[in-house]
Amino acid sequence: MRRHPVSKSKMICPACGAQMNLHAEKLVDASPNEPGYNLALDGAIDESHSCPRCGAAASRRRVA
Ligand SMILES: [Zn+2]
Repeated sequence: MRRHPVSKSKMICPACGAQMNLHAEKLVDASPNEPGYNLALDGAIDESHSCPRCGAAASRRRVA
């Protein structure tokens, strides 16, 4: 599996604009026609991010 540069996966806090930290990844059910579907996993990865400045939390689907 290829590694992606860390900078590519950073998420910006929607509340204050700080760079958020990725703190959890979860495999979720997805169908092959959904964005982010990973054939090797037969599902998709949802990322949870938290903001070190204001404490906001956000999640997003990882899209390769
Ligand atoms: Zn924030």
